[in-house]
Amino acid sequence: MSKEKQYAELVDQLAYKEKRSEVIVALVGAINARDLAKVVLDVEPKNALIEGLTHENAKVRWWCLQLMDHVADESFIPYIIPLLHDPVGKVRKHAVHALTCDICKPDRCGLALSLDVKEQIERVSAKDPDKRVRDEAQAALLQWN
Ligand SMILES: [Zn+2]
Repeated sequence: MSKEKQYAELVDQLAYKEKRSEVIVALVGAINARDLAKVVLDVEPKNALIEGLTHENAKVRWWCLQLMDHVADESFIPYIIPLLHDPVGKVRKHAVHALTCDICKPDRCGLALSLDVKEQIERVSAKDPDKRVRDEAQAALLQWN
């Protein structure tokens, strides 16, 4: 099996709770926040996480965001943006979180967001139909002011 295929299968398995910890270690090489912050991903797991953002299963999308939140990498930003409009509120909320949270990231250093991205988060804070999503976005806005 090719490396790409192996990582794609690991991403599929993020849908299932039972083996999730093992799957995460196999995928990104760490499980706890402190170790995740030191992870530098190879191209195959990185691409597999990006692919996972468009997975049909919302749990998989959420977990890919979760891992991206901890393994901060600015090249993920353009792939996370469309999930601000995901049909599932929990996923939209976590997309806002992954883009805007500092605490989970290496050295607590948040991603450098462009003005355009900040404006999109601002729109989410005003217009998202789900209050929890708006709250997450509003918390980010406060942090910038
Ligand atoms: Zn976070």
